[in-house]
Amino acid sequence: MTTSSLATLVPDTVAVPRGHWIGGRSVAEGGPPLAVLRPSDGRPHGEVGEAGDAVVGAAVAAAQRGQAAWAALRPRQRGDLMRRWADLVDRDRERLARLEAVVSSRAVHEALATDVPAVAEWLRFYGEYADKLEGTVTASGDDRLSLVLREPYGVVGVITPWNFPLFLATWKLAPAIAAGNAVVVKASELTPWSVHALAELAAEAGLPEGVINVVHGTGPVTGRALVRHPGVGYVTFTGSTATSARIMADAAAAGIKPVALELGGKSATLVHADCGDLDAVADHVTWGITRNAGQLCYAGSRLVVDERIADELVDKVATRMRALVPGPTWSAATTLPPIISERQWQRIDTLVRRTVEEGARLQCGGTPQRLDGGCFYPGTILDHVDTGMTGFREEIFGPVLCVQRFTDPAQALSLANHPVYGLSAAVFTRDVSRALEAARGLKAGTVWVNRWGRTPEMMTSPFGGYGQSGFGKESGRAGIDNFLRSKSVWIDFAAAAELSQGGRR
Ligand code: NAD
Repeated sequence: MTTSSLATLVPDTVAVPRGHWIGGRSVAEGGPPLAVLRPSDGRPHGEVGEAGDAVVGAAVAAAQRGQAAWAALRPRQRGDLMRRWADLVDRDRERLARLEAVVSSRAVHEALATDVPAVAEWLRFYGEYADKLEGTVTASGDDRLSLVLREPYGVVGVITPWNFPLFLATWKLAPAIAAGNAVVVKASELTPWSVHALAELAAEAGLPEGVINVVHGTGPVTGRALVRHPGVGYVTFTGSTATSARIMADAAAAGIKPVALELGGKSATLVHADCGDLDAVADHVTWGITRNAGQLCYAGSRLVVDERIADELVDKVATRMRALVPGPTWSAATTLPPIISERQWQRIDTLVRRTVEEGARLQCGGTPQRLDGGCFYPGTILDHVDTGMTGFREEIFGPVLCVQRFTDPAQALSLANHPVYGLSAAVFTRDVSRALEAARGLKAGTVWVNRWGRTPEMMTSPFGGYGQSGFGKESGRAGIDNFLRSKSVWIDFAAAAELSQGGRR
């Protein structure tokens, strides 16, 4: 099937997995069913039972058994199984893309062209690490040997958001299992099924039962039960900064366990007057804030631009935003997908209105739309935003660009640095010294120069936040180091000799 035949996808025909995925099989138990809605038309598509303590406990127990079986395999075998799993993802890419698109904001053509292939590559990338993890030998006298071993935590709890459900879960579970752990994943209750289908493929690939488990339910019930479970040794979370604070408190209350947090952002794109082709820059800026309708943690939600080119650049971005086509995730024509929920849609509108009331100038957009039952928000530019305004302070998580202008290039860096968030930043300039100065001075975990956004090859370098954008890097070598703890071993030869003599006496 080609992308164009997927574009005719009839959402009602998308069959979804049932129950939770525990120990290599579907398990139907769960609390009261939760309806799962399609953001594209607001209709219910199915439901999931909510996992409480008992179901989460069963998943953790299955993961403990699965981890033991996984650890018994040779590292190379683990890598082979992960690569086989990636091949099955390629084989089933259309099913996965449909499951992803039907209840999320991911357009099916994008899910097919980018998200699902990225999942397969991520499994391969980390599968290749499985037999290349090494400990070290540290300095010691001749009579001793000091080893530093690296060991998995055991069971890792993985909690993910709704905005790129399949890919963001794979970001975590692939390095976690390559490091020798087993996982229990709690996907967002808004988008439960694509990661469940991914887990089914792990079983088909031959990963031992229980290495990958998926439980469904809300954060306060299922997510909390997972974080607090004593059998979970490590929690990795992607989501909002507010939720992360609850997770840290629960992880502490449950007896102290490490957490890694990938959180929100308010990322700046800094454009100097010497940036060159303004059309190319406008393409990056527009894509940076309208990709997935701005529902992206590292969305380029702030534009910090030299006053001399600001009007022209803002005009160009506004023209591109007006050309976007809102529509359901199952249409190939869609370039502006729906907002995930009515609640999130209203929040975007509230924050935009408040920023306008505070004095920002609305350059385009700003009017929420309903189309065939779905909630849509147009590409919106708020100009002349200052640091006291809501649009500067809050992560809006919609296609809303807040513009700040500078007259003195020396001002630019301090404007671009956000007092709270620091996930990513971009700088456009043809001056190499200025680019390096920005790369060093920007307080963000990733800085792009003369581009905005990640590409698949960026899987080789770490990604993660500064400040309230979180801690604990993902991606690259750092992504797998996160899931390993070190153990120091000292072997004392002199003592061993004495002991063996003692043994002969
Ligand atoms: P959210 O924080 O509301 O929910 C994320 C996940 O946490 C969901 O699975 C939810 O059910 C669960 N959860 C909620 N309360 C919980 C609790 N008390 N205990 C355990 N789990 C709980 O976030 P969201 O609305 O799903 O996603 C949007 C947010 O995620 C945005 O802030 C965005 O910036 C952030 N995000 C960050 C990244 C990144 O890589 N930094 C990527 C994508 C999204």
